Amino acid sequence: MTASATALATHLATLDRHLARFRDNGILNLIAGQDVAGAEWFETRSPVDESLIAKVALGDAATIDAAAKAAKDAFPAWAAMEGAKRKAILHRIADLIEERAEEIALCECWDTGQAWRFMSKAALRGAENFRFFADLAPSARDGQALPTKDHMNVTSRKPIGPVGVITPWNTPFMLSTWKIAPALAAGCTVVHKPAEFSPLTARLLSEICRDAGLPDGVLNLVNGMGEGAGRALTEHPDIKAIAFVGESRTGSMIMRQGSETLKRVHFELGGKNPCIVFADADLDRALDAAIFMIYSLNGERCTSSSRLLVQDSIADTFHAKLIDRVNSLKVGHPLDPATEIGPLIHQTHFDKVAGYVEIGKQDGATLAVGGTRQGDAGWFIRPTLFTDATPEMRIAQEEVFGPFLTSIRFADEAEALKIANGVAYGLTGYVWTNDLTRALRISDGLEAGMVWVNSENVRHLPTPFGGVKASGIGRDGGDWSFEFYMETKNTAFALGAHTIPRLGA
Ligand code: NAD
Repeated sequence: MTASATALATHLATLDRHLARFRDNGILNLIAGQDVAGAEWFETRSPVDESLIAKVALGDAATIDAAAKAAKDAFPAWAAMEGAKRKAILHRIADLIEERAEEIALCECWDTGQAWRFMSKAALRGAENFRFFADLAPSARDGQALPTKDHMNVTSRKPIGPVGVITPWNTPFMLSTWKIAPALAAGCTVVHKPAEFSPLTARLLSEICRDAGLPDGVLNLVNGMGEGAGRALTEHPDIKAIAFVGESRTGSMIMRQGSETLKRVHFELGGKNPCIVFADADLDRALDAAIFMIYSLNGERCTSSSRLLVQDSIADTFHAKLIDRVNSLKVGHPLDPATEIGPLIHQTHFDKVAGYVEIGKQDGATLAVGGTRQGDAGWFIRPTLFTDATPEMRIAQEEVFGPFLTSIRFADEAEALKIANGVAYGLTGYVWTNDLTRALRISDGLEAGMVWVNSENVRHLPTPFGGVKASGIGRDGGDWSFEFYMETKNTAFALGAHTIPRLGA
């Protein structure tokens, strides 16, 4: 047996032990510290071979109501808890995530199809998210002193109340921690509705939080469908805000659903991010980054560089190298450490990605690599590359959300920027050039919430994360997260006897 086959066999045996209890009891909701079974159930299946992982408790409006009540009841004590104590509990959660990182990563790979080489790091990044916001918990309420001649204005912040967190199925563990950690650090209580396609690790996170001593009701887990539990959460009057990660059109629905109760919303939505490669760039590094940013995480990544914009003069040589590398990508079992691309999450998603292969061909782009199903069990697709696409084609405009790259040629800076900005989305942009002033011009002109110059998506947690246009509303990271989960109050103290207008005197 090769080393990677041995590692795969070991992973499968360990995973099997971890899954045994879910096979017996199902994946339960967790409300007010109690495990809650469903009156009804749905199934989660592995995209590797469509085998049943477990039945999952199906939450509905009544389940959400119970969870929202638990979050409301738990809020006053959690909000009033000294920041240093909240900090200690959040660090304990991070400790337990690290202790169970292997279990989390194995479950995540099996439930989502994401490759082990990326998921083992994503579990640890979840712990990092908790540590980062744990350290900010004691200062989350801090405000400013804004004196005038007559008044001392003092601002302070308070947690907004119980909040709803709704997460998608791609890298669900990491994304859940990214939302839940700052909410808890701010002093909010949470009802979490994870994606129905990948509920496993949300359950692990809720257990870890309970084991770490998070008081009952501070984090509640309700599984269910978007139209059922998800919708009820966004409409619940006791839930003050919704932090949502998912598709842009779901964001629109949530905004409508939350309008009656005037919900505050924070949206991290879709993307169609350009990677712009100029002829003067370090082309080997640009190639590595372009491949990594679209084919890692199965391309099921909001920040993926799904549009390659490549300057005419180097396009042929760049494409030749790209085609070689994409042909060599290893598609396989997600628990095999050698695998670079696992199966897509679900048949419906496979059908969507495969549908875009047909659309690209019909629109006249060149299918240079892939586009076909691999094997006949599971939802594996060969990494796909279309070259010589034009900016108005659907594969150059719409989010495919798979290992699917669309390459478009450009002549000069002005055309690159026009193409880059000519889509509905605006999450990230990647710029490759060794001309400093060009880098400044292009990064300034890009309609995006985040730009990386001569780099792939390397995150630094204190920096703002989020998109513009159809890619989102609001920012996460550092103090930006607290702006969402907290209310700011200004109190003005008169410094003396300033003149008060006298009416009717
Ligand atoms: P989705 O919008 O279909 O589902 C996301 C969540 O919303 C799920 O939990 C779902 O059950 C719930 N939902 C669906 N309808 C709802 C409704 N009417 N009311 C309330 N909740 C509802 O998204 P997905 O397919 O799970 O995830 C992929 C999408 O997420 C892609 O568009 C991707 O770009 C985006 N994404 C964005 C970021 C970011 O940071 N910008 C990060 C990851 C993923």
